[in-house]
Order: sequence, then structure tokens, then C-alpha cells
Amino acid sequence: MGRGTGARPTLSLASTGRPDCHQDQGSLVGFELVRVSVPLIAPWASSAGTFSQRDSLLVRAVLRFRGDRGAANEVEGWGECPALPGPTYSAEYTAGAQDVSERYLVPALLRKSVACVAGVAPALAGVKGHNMAKTAFEAALMDAELVAGGVRMADFLGGQSRTGAVVADSVAAGVAIGLSGSLGELLDEVALRLEEGYRRVKLKVRPGWDVEPVGAVRERWPALVLFADANGSYGRLPMGQAAEQLARLDGYGLSCLEQPLGDDDLAGHAELARRLGTPLCLDEALTSPGAIVSALRVGACSVVNIKAGRLGGYLEAVRAHDLCVEQRVPVWCGGMVETGIARAANLALASLPGFCLPGDLSATGRFFEVDLAGPMALRPDGTIAVPSGAGLGVPVDQEAISRFSTSRTWWPR
Ligand code: MG
Repeated sequence: MGRGTGARPTLSLASTGRPDCHQDQGSLVGFELVRVSVPLIAPWASSAGTFSQRDSLLVRAVLRFRGDRGAANEVEGWGECPALPGPTYSAEYTAGAQDVSERYLVPALLRKSVACVAGVAPALAGVKGHNMAKTAFEAALMDAELVAGGVRMADFLGGQSRTGAVVADSVAAGVAIGLSGSLGELLDEVALRLEEGYRRVKLKVRPGWDVEPVGAVRERWPALVLFADANGSYGRLPMGQAAEQLARLDGYGLSCLEQPLGDDDLAGHAELARRLGTPLCLDEALTSPGAIVSALRVGACSVVNIKAGRLGGYLEAVRAHDLCVEQRVPVWCGGMVETGIARAANLALASLPGFCLPGDLSATGRFFEVDLAGPMALRPDGTIAVPSGAGLGVPVDQEAISRFSTSRTWWPR
């Protein structure tokens, strides 16, 4: 089995780039669920909790194709569920994603023999929520299918977009910095990241850690592109107090303030947007393209963070991108401290033209000493090249996956 070596079958791509499931020459062999625990270089802290091991669920999809001379050829693809170890960013968490995958998602995909990316969402439509777990299966099948067809993920996603624009060959990198222990530690870390070549920094904030850190970073680097992300933590304050405190950030030239209030508080965000000078961006609240439409309609945000996992897959992320482009709303690609498997796919997504703000797209080496796929290097101009190979476009490190795996199960059993 390979990731595109040997007799390469042809994959029918219609003019839109959408693979046709009905004419698909591949068949589903099965899925492997791989739970990994990958050590972080340093603990990651935000209002959504702290962890020092990235406990993640990976999906390996295996498809079988018939080559030109009738020989069977198996191709594998990889996807990553970006749910955090605990239910602190959203209700999803890694062990829960594994459970719903084993009980519901895998059986549904096997029952319908889904062997192409376009078939995933319809097959899983009967399962409510669990968008991040669903995304892992969509991504794995997409990778396998594109590897088989010799198609770059960025080109495939670009072909899915109604905007019809050419995808970029590189994207602006950005680094998110977790809650720091002290101002000194924070300034040291920002300095380190800028030295590494990052041109945009996102600071995690929460009540009690906001004006001082943002002000200190801005004072030292007046021209830096700076975001702040509250992960909903001001939702526990009365609106007047939250607005008053957050208005103190207005003078620091933030490109956006992300998700200050609770996930479902669109009205609160709309009120805050009217009271603040800083543009508001939503993250946790935007769980579907429909939710983005609702948020924009009520004025709850003017910038959108697109995360494929939160939206239920890369095809939904392209839909979200398209509607934001049509509404002239700037978007950027969010991150979940993922391994290189999801980050490679995110680079492909962020190559679409609506991603006009730098995202949480950091290079190999930002989070992990040993990553699971890559390398993806930061270039001197602060960008990362969009992977150029088929599918994910970067090598997946099978040895590292084996080393960090805590369980592996093959389906059908
Ligand atoms: Mg966020």
C-alpha cells in the first residue's frame, strides 16, 4: 500500500473539481482509528484549559483502486480530529470523538461503503453534532482520494469554491500564544516568535489578563499585526462590565478581538460590536455556514475564523469561505494545536483567496519536537508554502505515529 506510489489509478474530476462518487473507481477497504498522545514542547494554556500532551484521534482511510491493467492498488489517507483532550473548547473531546466514531460514524460509513469525500456528509447526516470527529473521516477519505488521483488538496478545495479564484502557493503564517505566567514571559515569547519570522501574533486573553499584556506587546512592537482571543471568557461578566473592560483594548490597534462572550450569545456579541472600536471575530459560535449567516445578519461579528473541524469538514469550510467572500467579510484559518496532519490540510484550505488575514498556521516545530507530518517551514517573508504534493502533500511519519499511539483499532473488525 502506498500514498500514491505504484500504478496510479485515474480519478474522475469533473470540471468543478468534485469527484463523482457514482463513477468512483475506488472502493472502501476500511478505517483505522489511531489514538495518539504527542508531547508538546511546552504546555498550552488558554481559557479552554491547559495540556502538555496532544491527545488526538487520527483516522486512516484505506481505499482500493483498480489500476490500468486490472491490478488492485490500495491507497491510504490520513485525517485528524481537532477536538481537544477535554470538553473545554466545545462539547467535543478526544475520548468522546473516539466513542462516537466507533459506535456511529464508522458503522454508517461502512454500511454505505463511502469511498469518496462527497459521500461523507450525507452518510453521517443522521448523527447530530460531533463535527470534529466527522471532519477526521472526511479529511482521511479526501487525502486518500486525492493521493490516488494525484491531485493537490489546495487545488481540489479551490475547485470546490464558487469564487473560481486561483489558490495561493503560500499563506501568511501566524502564531498563537497561550496565557503566559507573567508579562516578562509573554514578551520573551513574542520576541522569540518574531525572531523565528512570524508576522502576526494572537494573544490569549481573559478577565484579569487583557489590557496589560496587549498594551505591553503593542508598546514594544507598534506595527505588529496583533489579534486577541478570549475563548468566551468575558461571558461570565455582566455585559456592562465586559464592555467597559474590553473597550480599554480599543486603543491598541487589534486586527480583531475573538469570541469575547459565550458560544450562543449572538445578541450579546452584536451589542458589544456596537460598543467597541475593535472589530469582533467569532470562533466557537460558528458551527455551520448557517450560523455564520445568522451572526453576520445580526452584526455579531465583522471578521470570521474558519475552522474545518468546527464546521464539520473541509467542504463546509469552503462553503463558509464562499459566503464570507460574497459578503466581503475577511476570514482567517483558525487552529487547534493540531499535529502536522491537520495543519497540512489547513494550509490547503487557507490558500483560498478569501483568507486575507494571517491564520493560526504555524510551522513545524512550533508545538511539537516530533510532529506526525511535514515539514512545513516558515520562510523569511513570514509565509509557509502550501504543500505541493498530492493529497495532504507532505510525508506522514508512520514511525512517529506508531511511537505516540496509545490505541489502534481497524474497522471492519
Ligand atoms: Mg479562538
